[in-house]
Amino acid sequence: MTNIQIILNTILSKNIFEYLLIDRDLKVVNTSVGVLKYMENVPYEGDDVLMHMPEFLGFEEKLKEVFEKKDFTYTFKTIQKNGYYMNISLDHYNHDIALVLLQNITKMTQAQQQLLQYSNETTLLYHALQKIIDAQNSLLFVTNSDDRIEFANQTFLHYFHAENLDEIKAKALKLYPYVNKNIKSYNELHKHIRGSEINLNIGNDTFIMQSTAIEETHRLFTLSRVTDIYEKKKSLEAEVEVDALTSVYRKKYFDLRLEQLLKEENNFALIVVDIDDFKAVNDNYGHTVGDDVLKEFAFLLKKNIRQDDLIARWGGEEFLLVLKMDDLQRAMDRTETLRKMLDEHTFKHIGHLTASFGLAWRGQCDCDDANSLLQRADKALYKAKNNGKNRVILKKLEKRGENCIV
Ligand code: GH3
Ligand code: MG
Ligand code: MG
Repeated sequence: MTNIQIILNTILSKNIFEYLLIDRDLKVVNTSVGVLKYMENVPYEGDDVLMHMPEFLGFEEKLKEVFEKKDFTYTFKTIQKNGYYMNISLDHYNHDIALVLLQNITKMTQAQQQLLQYSNETTLLYHALQKIIDAQNSLLFVTNSDDRIEFANQTFLHYFHAENLDEIKAKALKLYPYVNKNIKSYNELHKHIRGSEINLNIGNDTFIMQSTAIEETHRLFTLSRVTDIYEKKKSLEAEVEVDALTSVYRKKYFDLRLEQLLKEENNFALIVVDIDDFKAVNDNYGHTVGDDVLKEFAFLLKKNIRQDDLIARWGGEEFLLVLKMDDLQRAMDRTETLRKMLDEHTFKHIGHLTASFGLAWRGQCDCDDANSLLQRADKALYKAKNNGKNRVILKKLEKRGENCIV
């Protein structure tokens, strides 16, 4: 079956349209089954179409014209034959074939009649559909009542390295296991999709899959490749998650990860780091140097924590760290190592710089959440600043009965 025939059959199943395909010698190439009800005799392949069509003025001329003009469509209104009223439309299918559409309007309601006034547009729609199918970047296939692929477009064939449809048929290609191992047929897949859309991964490609019922028996599936869009989205998301100046995470993303860590019941320290007297850096060297120092500072911290740990910029010259450790003492030691590393580092432009660290150890109780941890670390930092800066201060979790004090 050709593409256009599948689409036509869909519409034919609604019992409104019948069709004949005619060649340039005005011989019948093919017809839909129901066409007979408008004919005296069965129109066989190779028959002269004029033999079968009701006689009316201009039919032959218009039919010939259809072959010559690509976008030509012509509709004869309301012809009576065998007690049926019908509209006959002539339509250019391709260079060699014309499409004669018979539209039974005998039992049409008024509304349907109105609809058929747009029959020219309807036939134009077939062209559009055909063109859409041919030009699709999407993979498109139709399955039949035997749950087999009956039609697939060029893009589909190409993607699955098939020369033609027969190869696809021979392979009995099954795509539903890619969606879900429990889905055992295309029909089940259609039900699974339920008029919405799902994501599907084949190899390295991500597709959005949709399905549409054609008649009772056929299903039209489309697969739109979105791999590129997804990758772009991912890199965009990464951009959103990362601070532009220092290339460490933003607070918002840090919060998400922190919530996750709290759920996973990890042991870790949450640390707020604030550069000492940073205002003086800006004042003495200017903002551009200040920015460079911030970059270098973040880079040094990131380099000296582990992959499993977290670093984010809280804003300004304040950073957040999560250090995953088995116990508090080791977390304190590592934080002290970080402090010392910075203290001993020679920063570009400015040379010496120090920072203060406020540390909170994750308490093993439900009352200690992200908020109370941050507050403790912040209080510890405040104390570090007040006690002379360039130091690590721990603020322990205090409890009153079952409740944490923040
Ligand atoms: P303290 O030791 O008490 O932390 O003193 P401080 O000077 O570091 O703290 P303060 O909060 O008074 O000043 C922080 C300064 O950081 C003020 C602000 O201009 C500067 N700052 C914040 N964000 C940026 C930035 O993105 N680039 C630059 N260059 N400066 C920034
Ligand atoms: Mg500050
Ligand atoms: Mg500061």
